[in-house]
Amino acid sequence: MILLDGKKISEQLLEEIKVDVEKLKSEGKKAPHLAVILVGNDPASETYVGSKVKTCERVGFKSTLIRFPSTIEESELLKRIEELNNDPDLDGFIVQSPLPKHISDDKVINAISPAKDVDGFHPENLGRVALNMPAFLPATPFGIITLLDRYNIPTVGKHCVVIGRSHIVGLPVSLLMVRNSKPGNCTVTICHSKTVDLKSHTLQADILIVATGQTESVSADMVKEGAVVVDVGISRVPDASKKSGFRLAGDVKFDEVAPKCSYITPVPGGVGPMTIASLLKNTLEGVKRKVN
Ligand code: NDP
Repeated sequence: MILLDGKKISEQLLEEIKVDVEKLKSEGKKAPHLAVILVGNDPASETYVGSKVKTCERVGFKSTLIRFPSTIEESELLKRIEELNNDPDLDGFIVQSPLPKHISDDKVINAISPAKDVDGFHPENLGRVALNMPAFLPATPFGIITLLDRYNIPTVGKHCVVIGRSHIVGLPVSLLMVRNSKPGNCTVTICHSKTVDLKSHTLQADILIVATGQTESVSADMVKEGAVVVDVGISRVPDASKKSGFRLAGDVKFDEVAPKCSYITPVPGGVGPMTIASLLKNTLEGVKRKVN
């Protein structure tokens, strides 16, 4: 069994991005500029946003954090998004989720210009992914295919089973795995909460991608010998032996599944670190498309 080390690969990606940014600057071009909108002060969102801003600094990006109180009117947020769409200095921006209940996720996603939607959530970007056209790929699926690619995992003709059909992970990663691309060209089965006899599907998977948020729900009896397993899930499980009082766990029972696998992602240190690196890669690609 070989670990798909997302921490290591994301470090490589960030170093590559840093070199590209230095090259842009040495050619007299401006550094990529990413903005993050944070509404409210959800502690997990604060952590994610903090590490996005820190990683921007590390690779030489300019970053702007725009904070709003959770009471902000939807119309005011949409107005600010329109301003960012028209800001020529800004190459991309994201709106950190979750948003307060009185704000429509759909309205916000639709308001972001597809040309600045580095999270890849706008329907135009998802449509482009489906049609194998140039697009901002959603960061987590982009991270997953980059990880498979960097480990040279063969995908052509393989059976990929994805558990989960969310718009940010399950659905786009399924599209990326089925399209005629590298990695890609898999035969893809998408499972979800209404799937009958999940195990009968997962047992056929050469590549199993799990994104359900159901902690440690995939057990060894559900996995084929030699499968590649990508665990997207990340949740906190109470653990009195830890100083923090919790441990991080994925959607897969790692200890019993890992011995059956050819490759598997750990949690933490697998898909998670790839996500931020992919977001920055998107922003850089956006800049390159503009300047070339
Ligand atoms: P969602 O809750 O949006 O989607 C979960 C999907 O799993 C749904 O399609 C749901 O089906 C399906 N599902 C739920 N329970 C079952 C079940 N028992 N059997 C089969 N399918 C099931 O979650 P996300 O896609 O946003 O995230 C999934 C996990 O990945 C979470 O743990 C999240 O924290 C993590 N995550 C990690 C990231 C990272 O960077 N590492 C980034 C994003 C997410 P249905 O559609 O029928 O409801």
